[in-house]
Amino acid sequence: MADVSADVAVIGGGIVGLATARALQRRGRARVCVLEKEARPGTHQSGHNSGVIHSGVYYRPGSLKARLCVEGARRMLAFCAERGIAHEKCGKLIVAVGEDELARLDELQRRAAANGVDGVTRLDAGQVRELEPHVRSVAALHVAATGIADYPAVVAALAADVAAAGGALLPNAELLAGHASGGGWLLRTRAGSVATGLVVNCAGLQSDVVAARCGARPEVRIVPFRGEYYLLRPERHDLVRGLVYPVPDPAFPFLGVHFTRTVHGLREAGPNAVLAFAREGYTRTSLSLTDLSATLAFRGFRRLAARYWRVALAEYHRSWSKPAFVRALRRMVPDLRAGDLVPGGAGVRAQAVGPDGALLDDFSLLRTERALHVLNAPSPAATASLAIGEHIAALLEEAGPRP
Ligand SMILES: Cc1cc2nc3c(=O)[nH]c(=O)nc-3n(C[C@H](O)[C@H](O)[C@H](O)COP(=O)(O)OP(=O)(O)OC[C@H]3O[C@@H](n4cnc5c(N)ncnc54)[C@H](O)[C@@H]3O)c2cc1C
Repeated sequence: MADVSADVAVIGGGIVGLATARALQRRGRARVCVLEKEARPGTHQSGHNSGVIHSGVYYRPGSLKARLCVEGARRMLAFCAERGIAHEKCGKLIVAVGEDELARLDELQRRAAANGVDGVTRLDAGQVRELEPHVRSVAALHVAATGIADYPAVVAALAADVAAAGGALLPNAELLAGHASGGGWLLRTRAGSVATGLVVNCAGLQSDVVAARCGARPEVRIVPFRGEYYLLRPERHDLVRGLVYPVPDPAFPFLGVHFTRTVHGLREAGPNAVLAFAREGYTRTSLSLTDLSATLAFRGFRRLAARYWRVALAEYHRSWSKPAFVRALRRMVPDLRAGDLVPGGAGVRAQAVGPDGALLDDFSLLRTERALHVLNAPSPAATASLAIGEHIAALLEEAGPRP
């Protein structure tokens, strides 16, 4: 006999899992439960990010990221407003420092138009200085639609909604194994067993592990990339007023170290993107032999490492050396000094890598018998979470068995 029985079990109480559980309930799935490994929801990526509501300028037109980010940003702003959650549509600058970056700025402007992102304006160096007197540039894009939000408060509001609609939120309930049984599943967790018709895997940094525990064989694996932050000392907040980003390198899904403002009034600088030796490793010395050996054994990782070892070494250097980190930021803000920054927090990105060593660019979902696995939901998945949840609930409504 199972301890809990449900129509759908969502594995992972991060922002994507909770938004999915809520969307399933709103489409009439009455008995939804959320299994969370930790004592509280939102402990990993959803509680360790930059707090930005992305607008959708970066992503390939037609991709899931582009579509769900634009739709998700609209939903997220409305949700925060409705629920009294701290947020602000503050806009951001994407700054070209060298002439060689102008073609990429043009491409971002084209993508923004193709993705339906309104309010993207080209600025010259003088106009940039009016907005951000300490920022050096040859040109920039001003993206009015970008915002900031208190994502931990969003996680708490989503969890409250799921509970209020009769959903069971099970803390300390790490999924250990899933067995297909009698047209559904019997799940073994650290908090007892769960009988369910459908499984939705939203386990973030552990999504490939959870997929394997449910008998799926995804081609991709999660490779964890830590992002470390510094904080600007309050007396130096005049150096950057808002969100200031470099033009990203199109070879990588990461945005390059940048400046952000949080809803709590902090100014953050970062995050970098360092290969982490533990999936939930928030410090430079975190090491999990299980995680590291799984990463090293993966052919896709070895191919990735062969291709990008120079970039990886430069990122390690920048992780251990504050002057190197500051140098990257000083390209945009030359007045910045090492003493203006103090160490901040860190988050770990769940980035899926294919067997060919490619970093998966788009969100990725895998359907199997009576299960759906979210295998790649890195940034901007916090922004997009409400739209991702809707998308998954619609997919399951089309195909899944109803209670
Ligand atoms: C440094 C950093 C900066 C970012 N900045 C932004 C940003 O500004 N804007 C933006 O939109 N996005 C940003 N992101 C991305 C965003 O945070 C993530 O895409 C999003 O939080 C993913 O949510 P999730 O629910 O999929 O994952 P998570 O929040 O990681 O949740 C997964 C959950 O699954 C649980 N779990 C794992 N294994 C099991 C198991 N076996 N059984 C039960 N539960 C399990 C975990 O404990 C966890 O709570 C950033 C990410 C990082 C790391």
